[in-house]
Amino acid sequence: MPKYVLWDIDGTLLKNARFGGGLYDEAVKQVTGFTPLGPRPAEHGKVDGQIIAERLAEYGLDPAFQDAVAARLDELALERHIDGGDRRELVPGAREALAAVAAAGWTNAILTGNSTTRARAKFLGAGLDPDLFDWEHSFFGGQARQRTDVTAAAAAALGDDPHVIVGDTPTDDLAAKAAGIPFVAVATGVFSVERLRQTGAVLVLPDLVHGLEDLLGELRNMAVLAR
Ligand SMILES: [Mg+2]
Repeated sequence: MPKYVLWDIDGTLLKNARFGGGLYDEAVKQVTGFTPLGPRPAEHGKVDGQIIAERLAEYGLDPAFQDAVAARLDELALERHIDGGDRRELVPGAREALAAVAAAGWTNAILTGNSTTRARAKFLGAGLDPDLFDWEHSFFGGQARQRTDVTAAAAAALGDDPHVIVGDTPTDDLAAKAAGIPFVAVATGVFSVERLRQTGAVLVLPDLVHGLEDLLGELRNMAVLAR
């Protein structure tokens, strides 16, 4: 029976961007000609399709720009994340955790608010081989309007095959819970261990170095229960 660890990307496998959100505004500007209003609070846990829709609404722009902005965001990601000024960095222990999960008989896959293109661009820029993941059993939010759409798609596609989401935000937890998927939290994004303990996470890890043994233990328990 295949078993899947569904990894979130930002704040979980890769460190968050220093200036989160700037790329969305740039895509909006290039497509619509409207100059957005400047820096804003980060939108951790939101999916790309949602962020684009919210910004078009906030700026009073035609929602019909949605697909063009999403497409431009993908192009900007290829320019910026791979060789440009926005190459992303792995969190400590990411590579080792992916190897250990695979060695334990689980398939590494992705559940992210990004599009497929953005996810690949971020991994390539960070020097992480995209082939470490099963892209056929991964789930993306480039078109989604809420994270629960992405987790619902994952639950429907994976069915009875054991699967667990690893992420860094309370929103990840809520979306996992809505789809009945267990959630493991890791405090390498902006949310602390204490804050993440207030979620429904089955396990809260400080990071992927000090939390790896606990993660592997949880996976062993899930595999036993699934038999
Ligand atoms: Mg995240």
